[in-house]
Amino acid sequence: QADVLAQIKETIKQKHVELLHLQFVDIEGILKHVTVTAEQLDDVVEGKIMFDGSSIKGFSPINRSDLYLLPDLNTFAVLPWTVEEGYAEARFLCSVTNPDGTLFEGDPRNVLKKTVERAAQKGYTISVGPELEFFLFKTDENGNPTTEPQDNGGYFEPSPKDLGERVRLAIYRALKAMGFTIEASHHEVAEGQHEINFKYADALGAADNATTYKWVVKTIASQYGLHATFMPKPVFGINGSGMHVNMSLFKDGENAFFDPSDENQLSATAYQFIAGLLKNVKSFAAVTNPLVNSYKRLVPGYEAPCYIAWSASNRSALIRIPAKRGVATRVELRCPDPSANPYLAYAIIAAAGLDGVENGLQAPAPIDEDIFHMSEERRAELGIENLPGSLGKAIEELEAGTIGRDTLGEHVFNEYVAMKKAEWDSYRTAVHAWEIEQYQGKF
Ligand code: GLN
Ligand code: MG
Ligand code: MG
Ligand code: MG
Repeated sequence: QADVLAQIKETIKQKHVELLHLQFVDIEGILKHVTVTAEQLDDVVEGKIMFDGSSIKGFSPINRSDLYLLPDLNTFAVLPWTVEEGYAEARFLCSVTNPDGTLFEGDPRNVLKKTVERAAQKGYTISVGPELEFFLFKTDENGNPTTEPQDNGGYFEPSPKDLGERVRLAIYRALKAMGFTIEASHHEVAEGQHEINFKYADALGAADNATTYKWVVKTIASQYGLHATFMPKPVFGINGSGMHVNMSLFKDGENAFFDPSDENQLSATAYQFIAGLLKNVKSFAAVTNPLVNSYKRLVPGYEAPCYIAWSASNRSALIRIPAKRGVATRVELRCPDPSANPYLAYAIIAAAGLDGVENGLQAPAPIDEDIFHMSEERRAELGIENLPGSLGKAIEELEAGTIGRDTLGEHVFNEYVAMKKAEWDSYRTAVHAWEIEQYQGKF
């Protein structure tokens, strides 16, 4: 820690960092920050910077509202787009603490930390590689987002079809300067849709990275007069945006999912982890797919899953096992979308998989047929169930199950359920354009 701090002080001096942003996320994963001056670094590092928790969604009641920010020194990064001659800004991601210095249980980052600790007690570290897709939309003369995608390129298409190349290059450079290892960048299937992939990390590091990535993508896009969105299904009739979550467990420095002697080269632990995901997915969907709009992505025909099954290679399945083996052996969960709070999502996915491992659950046979084009009878015969079809259904499942309360903790669970119920109710009772179109003239 002393070394890291010395390094940070050196960078602050060399780059003339004047302002420090102390960042954290609210219950929805929305990034917040308070800005202080670099002269306050010592107070910052000691966790002395206070804020009003009652103004943050899902945090504390007004009568116990003082909370503090404890920066994670590993997340220090100079913000490349602020750097000029003799001036720069930097940020830390922080954990939220109570006035007595204990970790605040309403902070999503602390929720993930707890899950990581629980896994560590069993000897496991959790490795996470998320893939977050996004759309670029044009903005109007006032700078507001339109519903018009920036280009009409498709999967892996280069210029002149891909108009996002320059923006993706700028995003890549910014992320790289902030310490990311970028592995790939490409136009996605839908018009105006893109994906930039960064290297996997431990669960907390991956959630920090996903949070930073969403912020940087939006920030750089706006500099190009574009609106980047991680909304799961912004346009009807074309692919939505997913956040595939690649996950594996490591024990004693070895990938615990790899077993060269098995027919799929998967270990018993891997099969149990898969079984845990399949068992719990209905109850955790409200966390990995948190919006009304999330369930408009989970429909057949758009490379997003809607049935509960796993496969070695099938992209219509909920869980796919990417071909890589050895240290890269992992399961890819395909239902999450990038509107999810990464801290809560990775915590609950890991907890679900670990449930399978701890209780020695048995994975069903893999499904290698195309499930999108399977008849209902055939699905019933194979015992393939559906993911929740709406946010309303997903909240019911979250409340009925135990994984939500056990993983999120009392505080976050109660706040989350209350907030999502209100959101669902607001949607359920609103009269939508579709209804007017369908009914107003006819009845
Ligand atoms: N966009 C798809 C989804 O909604 C994924 C497409 C892909 O990455 N091949 O999950
Ligand atoms: Mg991908
Ligand atoms: Mg993709
Ligand atoms: Mg993928």
